[in-house]
Amino acid sequence: MEEMNTSEIPLTQKIELYLKQYSEQYGNTVFITQDIALEQVAEEQAIETESMASKKQATQQSTTHIFTPPEYTSVDMFQDRPSWIDATELTVLQKEICTCTKCDLGNTRKNFVFGVGNPNAEIVIIGEAPGADEDEQGEPFVGRAGQLLTKILEAIGLTREEVFICNILKCRPPNNRTPFPSETELCEPYLYKQLDLIQPKFILAVGLTAANTLLKQTNKMGEIRGKFMNYYGARMIVTYHPAALLRNPNWKVHTWEDVKMLRAAYDEYLNKGILPEV
Ligand code: SF4
Repeated sequence: MEEMNTSEIPLTQKIELYLKQYSEQYGNTVFITQDIALEQVAEEQAIETESMASKKQATQQSTTHIFTPPEYTSVDMFQDRPSWIDATELTVLQKEICTCTKCDLGNTRKNFVFGVGNPNAEIVIIGEAPGADEDEQGEPFVGRAGQLLTKILEAIGLTREEVFICNILKCRPPNNRTPFPSETELCEPYLYKQLDLIQPKFILAVGLTAANTLLKQTNKMGEIRGKFMNYYGARMIVTYHPAALLRNPNWKVHTWEDVKMLRAAYDEYLNKGILPEV
């Protein structure tokens, strides 16, 4: 038989149940009044509420600091410890790294594209690298593909201001070529630091290059989209890059499925403090 949640039973019914159980156990010779039963039920209810509250608090505490990045100082091990590693805020980090020329892209960019959005976002959207519009404006996802991303977010009730949007690379590769592994290796520590400061619970990786770069794998889109994966503690879901959706509108249905999954898991997290199993 399905067990009833005692918190759903009305108080009067609880008292009746309690009196019935009591008389079954001890017989009618034992003196028990409605007032005594009421006190007993109230006490049980208080214990139940307290335990539910402490359970909720424990879940929330255990998920507050969830993203644990890999060691990201190693690329600079032969230099003095760079000051950006100790940044405690995104604005400070941005100021520290915006003049970076660790790879050649630092010499060809028009603008450094750090990322925009909520510094305490629960969801971070990560693409591969800035394109021409982004390079021009210094902001990620602002061209036609960016506008589509904004619409996709709005379709699941999110605004650009609620989430944080960035790319793995902070500078545009000429002619939008795929980033070289050496460029990624030099730039990725900045992303780890950003995520370490933001502590997102969810990551939406857009595009196969971004996803494979983050996961250090060589998957096909069909193998990795539509499910949650563990990304250093955060839950990552992968979908098509909006630029790919502009070229292949048939894929929009898959992206819709992916972002709906993200929204459902985010709601579950907001309501119960639970992250999807991975
Ligand atoms: S792409 Fe990254 S590592 Fe290269 S110059 Fe720009 S910020 Fe520096």
